[in-house]
Amino acid sequence: MHCLNHIHCAGTAIENAEHVCLARGARLTPIRKAVLAEIWAGHEATKAYDLISRLSTAGNVIKPPTIYRALDFLLAHGLIHRIESLNAFIGCDHPEIAHQAILMICDTCGTINEQSSDALNQLITQISHQQQFETTRQSIELHGLCVRCQTQANPN
Ligand SMILES: [Zn+2]
Ligand SMILES: [Zn+2]
Ligand SMILES: [Zn+2]
Repeated sequence: MHCLNHIHCAGTAIENAEHVCLARGARLTPIRKAVLAEIWAGHEATKAYDLISRLSTAGNVIKPPTIYRALDFLLAHGLIHRIESLNAFIGCDHPEIAHQAILMICDTCGTINEQSSDALNQLITQISHQQQFETTRQSIELHGLCVRCQTQANPN
């Protein structure tokens, strides 16, 4: 998604995450919030090792397990989504609503656009029931070109 005012967009997402945690009695500790804010630095995928290097300072090197624990918390509360194909993470702007994300990943600029579809989820549930398959994790990731990169690739 290309937003027009990302400072506002990221700020709103983090405020929303605070409300969600408060409502669920979950604690958005400083490290969890710092990891979330770092993921919300943009609409591109963030990898765990980027978080480690970006959040560490000369005097305070953050250990990988600290980051992974924070990521597990954020995932468990739906505040972020895991991008399986990139082994990376993206912030979710509507964690208060249970949903399955469809992630459209632009392979040129790296921007990720999240959508969800009840119709598609129903279809997947129906297919898995037919096959007596018990789904525990679902991931729908589309790779390609975002609308902005399509325009740049084909001017006019
Ligand atoms: Zn934004
Ligand atoms: Zn989402
Ligand atoms: Zn793009």
